Amino acid sequence: MSKKPGLTVLAGPTAVGKGTVSTYIRDNYPEVWLSVSATTRAARPGEQDGVHYFFKTAEEFDSLVADGELLEWAVVHGQNRYGTLRSTVNAAIAEGKSVLLEIDLQGARQVKEAVPDANFVFLAPPTWDEMVRRLVGRGTETPEEQQRRLETAKLELAAEPEFDHTVINDDVRRAADELVSLMGLTPHQR
Ligand code: 5GP
Repeated sequence: MSKKPGLTVLAGPTAVGKGTVSTYIRDNYPEVWLSVSATTRAARPGEQDGVHYFFKTAEEFDSLVADGELLEWAVVHGQNRYGTLRSTVNAAIAEGKSVLLEIDLQGARQVKEAVPDANFVFLAPPTWDEMVRRLVGRGTETPEEQQRRLETAKLELAAEPEFDHTVINDDVRRAADELVSLMGLTPHQR
């Protein structure tokens, strides 16, 4: 069982499939209130403002930071800024909803400072080899870039003990069901 079903943070290494698990939850578990982050990155084809992200200009994001409206925020992959809107998350928790944040490790650490009794879940790859395969598999990166990504992945994997629970992403549906039960909800019967 989770520490506090009200707020759950899902984080984990790059390329472990956090986005896939949270998309599965968005599509299959309407009882989970999945936080919609603000970001400065451009929308990808098919992404809708207010559904996948709140797409912001750099100036708009600066204002959110200056006004203290973000519970956490980080520059992810050295490029764009991403952050969690404090007021909407607090309102959802106050309404008794089961809130899920899918954020990067830097963000998870900030939430741990701000809300230490939230429930922190680490999404891990099934094996190191599988992680290597996912990271370098596309074959589009140079050997140096591949090496850099693997070094980052090692550092990210070392963060696991900071979390309350680990869910292995061996299968998206199974991992999502386990996450939902860690949130104190009942996984769907199939
Ligand atoms: P993408 O650009 O592929 O949608 O997301 C890239 C990364 O940003 C993912 O690792 C995701 O976890 C992270 N991310 C998304 N929203 C937030 C947020 O609100 N805060 C933080 N710190 N990271 C986020």
